[in-house]
Amino acid sequence: MLGVPLRVHPLGALGGLGANCLLLALAARLAGGRLDPVGLALVALGTAALLQLSALAHEYGHALAACATGQRVESVVFVLFGGYAWIDLDAAERASRLRAAAIVAAGPAVSLVLALSFWAVAAPATSASAEAGLVCGIAAGMNGLLLGMNMLPLGPLDGGRLRRLVAGWLSGTPNRIRTGDLHLERVAS
Ligand SMILES: [Zn+2]
Repeated sequence: MLGVPLRVHPLGALGGLGANCLLLALAARLAGGRLDPVGLALVALGTAALLQLSALAHEYGHALAACATGQRVESVVFVLFGGYAWIDLDAAERASRLRAAAIVAAGPAVSLVLALSFWAVAAPATSASAEAGLVCGIAAGMNGLLLGMNMLPLGPLDGGRLRRLVAGWLSGTPNRIRTGDLHLERVAS
């Protein structure tokens, strides 16, 4: 897909979709929503599918940025609760820290665009159907949450990688690269 091989683990992806669905339906019930069972099922399934696709889009953000900067991308893998992209970030960093930072930042940038887009269409969607508005509103919130969690300046998260790359670039210290390290990027949905 889009020049990057996509590998789907069907059981994992379907399991994630089902689990998200159940969690969302339970949350909507506990929140005291007035949806009938069919409406509740539609909202849960629609939102769960959008969350899976949002996580995939986040990974493709990393992968396409890597391709655009001439870095090797092995594949994007779609599994339980999201996915991950196999990208040789070490090679990108050897070439340029800023290039590596652009690859890392591309995923959160996609999540930000998705959060804003779902938020923008939530109100118009509500006037068409309460369920559609709810799906867009929850998808906006979950993408915002995903973005916030990913940007925490910790270890293997996007925020932690960006912090390390930008700090190294600002201080002008030489790159210290662990060669042959393919980075695993995983995003929960
Ligand atoms: Zn990411």
